[in-house]
Amino acid sequence: MKIGFVGLGNMGAGMCANLVGAGHEVQAFDLNPDAVDAAKAAGARGAGSLAEAAQDADAIVTMLPAGKHVLAVYFGEDGIAANAATGTLFVDCSTISVDEARDAARQAEALGFLMVDAPVSGGTAAANAGTLTFMVGGPETAFEQAKPILNIMGANVVHAGAAGNGQVAKIANNMLLGISMIGTCEAFNLAEKLGLDAQTFFDISSTASGQCWSMTKYCPAPGPVSTAPSNNAYQPGFAVAMMLKDLRLAKQAADGIDASTPLGTQAEEIYAKLDEDGFAGLDFSGVMRRVRGEI
Ligand code: NAD
Repeated sequence: MKIGFVGLGNMGAGMCANLVGAGHEVQAFDLNPDAVDAAKAAGARGAGSLAEAAQDADAIVTMLPAGKHVLAVYFGEDGIAANAATGTLFVDCSTISVDEARDAARQAEALGFLMVDAPVSGGTAAANAGTLTFMVGGPETAFEQAKPILNIMGANVVHAGAAGNGQVAKIANNMLLGISMIGTCEAFNLAEKLGLDAQTFFDISSTASGQCWSMTKYCPAPGPVSTAPSNNAYQPGFAVAMMLKDLRLAKQAADGIDASTPLGTQAEEIYAKLDEDGFAGLDFSGVMRRVRGEI
């Protein structure tokens, strides 16, 4: 296939390289020329504009910072929609708001394109390794066309339903992750302060009813999970700024439909404070240091 790829940042670079590695002809574009050069070095053809990336493409994949970039790249003047052939498949893998994703899908459909929102779970390591999880929203026909492309970049591709539902899955999951991470930190801190060491508490709770991903795979207390950022000075991983972005998207969506999410709101406030205090680049499990009163 001929695939246009736009957004060659931390995540997009590896995803693009994996599409090239699978034998696709990839036309890669980014506002940052260095990122385009890196994609070229990985075997993609460098595109000098959105128009060039879209030209004659069977599908376009985007991995952009936020919703405003996605809407501008697809539907702005001389953007992708203005230059792609009718019927081209649009695959947006960025994390954006549910409303923006649904807006993009409506515009794409009205112009005769197929579109899916396909946000990811997994960070740069998974993007490079081609082991991301994709949560996909959009019509069945679009999903079936997107699946083989997503399967190259991911280990898990799940159809979440209609347009925007990929983003719904992403923000609901990450709101739960933010809450569970803070809860896990509080539990470890409490246990330690009461005289129970982290490893012993882990051995008990990880096989009891407190067990959760934040504990067993990403334990915020140093020691029990050797691969966790807590054993690497809380280097990301998944940065505080990224968690905050997702919690804000969750709050915005919840407010819009009057869904009660008091713990989600509190998690957002806790991460916002860390961000404000200069810890945006810390791994999100570094909230342990705040719970312990170290920062
Ligand atoms: P990034 O900032 O590293 O990359 C974004 C790229 O888009 C940049 O290279 C930028 O130059 C380019 N860009 C911006 N506007 C553009 C435009 N108009 N035309 C062409 N290129 C443009 O971001 P990232 O970390 O790769 O994240 C991308 C998306 O993936 C975000 O929505 C993020 O929330 C999501 N995400 C990131 C992670 C992570 O660990 N980094 C994990 C899951 C999801």
